[in-house]
Amino acid sequence: MSKRSNENATETESKSKHAKHWSLGLLESMKDPKSIVKQTKNVVVIRDKYPKAKVHYLMIPTDSINSIYKLNSEHVSLLEEFNELFEEIKSEHSNINLIAGFHAVPSMQRMHMHVISNDMISPCLKTKVHWNSFTTKFFIPYKDILSELKESGSVKKISPELHKSLMATPLQCNQCSFKPKNMPQLKEHLLTH
Ligand code: AMP
Ligand code: ZN
Repeated sequence: MSKRSNENATETESKSKHAKHWSLGLLESMKDPKSIVKQTKNVVVIRDKYPKAKVHYLMIPTDSINSIYKLNSEHVSLLEEFNELFEEIKSEHSNINLIAGFHAVPSMQRMHMHVISNDMISPCLKTKVHWNSFTTKFFIPYKDILSELKESGSVKKISPELHKSLMATPLQCNQCSFKPKNMPQLKEHLLTH
């Protein structure tokens, strides 16, 4: 897991003696009926607690698979089920552009696929790291993970150098060629789309 801290944990949460580590939070949300959007035998879809767009869900296997880097050829059918659920979610949001993919360096435990709308309009989207984690190659599309798994039986990690350079990518709108100077300008610009 990445050392990115949980920007959203309150001080009380992180200091509490009995609190579970923040990186385990998805395991709690998977059990919370208020978070669950859809559920099958193998997969749970939850609402992202700090959504970075108007629609932002996380698709998580019920099996304890820590990340995409633990996947092997036997998980191809699981990933295909992810896609069936993604298609179902798309059909329920006909006027919204949804994308599906994984962060190359996840911060939370248990493998999870982001299903997120491309408006990127949300008060929780605050930093350049947030932006670049969904709009650069740090966001690995679902289809790329499936083909890599089918071809080589595993998913390769990115190098720390690539990770660093992706996070440092200059801001660029994900829907046009506009290059904002800073996050406030980007957020204002996103409202025009
Ligand atoms: P990442 O590990 O970088 O792929 O992303 C983890 C995602 O989990 C982020 O989009 C967070 O907003 C979201 N998140 C963090 N804590 C929770 C939680 N307890 N329940 C649901 N979503 C969460
Ligand atoms: Zn734009």
